[in-house]
Amino acid sequence: MPFEIVCKDYGYDCEFIAKGEDSEYVTTLFGKHVDEEHGIWYSEESLKQMFQNKYNKK
Ligand SMILES: [Zn+2]
Repeated sequence: MPFEIVCKDYGYDCEFIAKGEDSEYVTTLFGKHVDEEHGIWYSEESLKQMFQNKYNKK
């Protein structure tokens, strides 16, 4: 089952979903999207935290 980070879940009015088999890929993809589309930069640590909160794994 691929991992997903849904932009909408973080309060953005946006249909973007970062999807992939690899946690690092998904967090990087999401981080890049929010930075480019919403002008918000999340640190690698914050992105990992978001992922762990959702999937409860490292
Ligand atoms: Zn978005």
